[in-house]
Amino acid sequence: MPCPICSRPALPRTQNDAAPFCSPRCKQIDLGNWLSNRYSVPGVDGSAGEGVDDGYVNIDREEGA
Ligand SMILES: [Zn+2]
Repeated sequence: MPCPICSRPALPRTQNDAAPFCSPRCKQIDLGNWLSNRYSVPGVDGSAGEGVDDGYVNIDREEGA
């Protein structure tokens, strides 16, 4: 199955501790996206957020309107 983050082939869980992602790095990226979406925190410490938040914000506004 392809990695949801980078679309590269990801090994099954039996061979890959980070499944369904291709690597622990992509797993971490997905977790970060999920957290920033859930809490809507645009990089509190300034280390996160690089245009990625805009997509989620726009979607939320359309839902609310
Ligand atoms: Zn990946």
